[in-house]
Amino acid sequence: MTRHYNFCAGPAALPESVLKRAQAEMLDYQGRGLSVMEMSHRSDDFIAIAEQSEADFRALLGIPDNYKVLFLQGGASLQFSMLPMNLLGRGGSANFVHTGIWGKKALAEINHLGLPHHLAASSESNGHTAVPPHEAIVLSDDAAYLHFTANETIGGLAFDYTPNAQRRDGTDVPLVCDMSSSILSAPLDVSQYGIIYAGAQKNIGPAGLTLVIVRDDLLDQAQSPIPSLFHYRGIAEAKSMVNTPPTYAWYLAGLVFQWLKDDIGGLVEMEAINQRKADKLYGAIDASDFYANPIATPNRSRMNVPFVLADSALDSAFLAEADNAGLLNLKGHRSVGGMRASLYNAVSEDAVDALIAFMADFEQRRG
Ligand code: PMP
Repeated sequence: MTRHYNFCAGPAALPESVLKRAQAEMLDYQGRGLSVMEMSHRSDDFIAIAEQSEADFRALLGIPDNYKVLFLQGGASLQFSMLPMNLLGRGGSANFVHTGIWGKKALAEINHLGLPHHLAASSESNGHTAVPPHEAIVLSDDAAYLHFTANETIGGLAFDYTPNAQRRDGTDVPLVCDMSSSILSAPLDVSQYGIIYAGAQKNIGPAGLTLVIVRDDLLDQAQSPIPSLFHYRGIAEAKSMVNTPPTYAWYLAGLVFQWLKDDIGGLVEMEAINQRKADKLYGAIDASDFYANPIATPNRSRMNVPFVLADSALDSAFLAEADNAGLLNLKGHRSVGGMRASLYNAVSEDAVDALIAFMADFEQRRG
């Protein structure tokens, strides 16, 4: 068996030790004679798995007691509509900072629902190569919350500050953040946010699960009526089991949280590793005239590193040779082209070293 280095933007690489543990427990979970996939979500065994998974997630991020963690389906994309449905019940508009394709999709969804929204700032004028300066974010007087995307997965653009969600009259409104591609990559002060959400398939676990961290006072601001499967309050009260949850993804996420705690040592350690990986790859890109990344240095994503070759005619050769060398999924998003190396938590430093060595070799032969 050979496992290649996987730079996929999502579903992304998972820690090998997690996959091995899942493999070992696949047919017979801890002597119960069945797999986790085959258990009732109401069984004591699964409830214990679910509770441990949540407890480890809370411990990793230091989530305060006045926040609920919801384990949902529908992807991060469903939150683009669940958020306004849950937060605009008392009137006002959703405010957005638009820094790339995922933020644009969140805006499109609220537009589709016909709900009030306001663009508080955008990086469109610089081609999403730098996030708007903090002072450029101006909330509408009726802002009910401010939404931003911490890390734009396609553009490789990351915030280097936490936006201040305050109207001009000084009223604070909840800060809502799409952290799909950066959650668990570094420590986080959850208390600065009203809601944080993330699709699982990057740093959390397999696809099919979405985590939402929601402050208690935001559970009860939904429009009426709202489908019960969309209502944060009802989901929280049912402990994310209004209906059958994605049990196996929840279990695997729990294994990833244990790996982060026990094998890595926590998010401080994880951030240091992620910083080293990103520094190495950006350093190699910057040291060459053959590769380029357009993002302003403070906003360069540690998780997703897009880059282009000086001659795009070589793109397909680069990808084919990388693939042959066991470096998988380096093709940039279909909307932007070029290359993208995603360096999520489970992508090892060895993988990054192998990529850099391949890039240098390719440049020497084809540059
Ligand atoms: N937001 C961001 C920042 C993402 O990277 C993605 C997926 N790549 C999404 C939202 C959408 O996630 P999902 O496919 O889980 O709906």
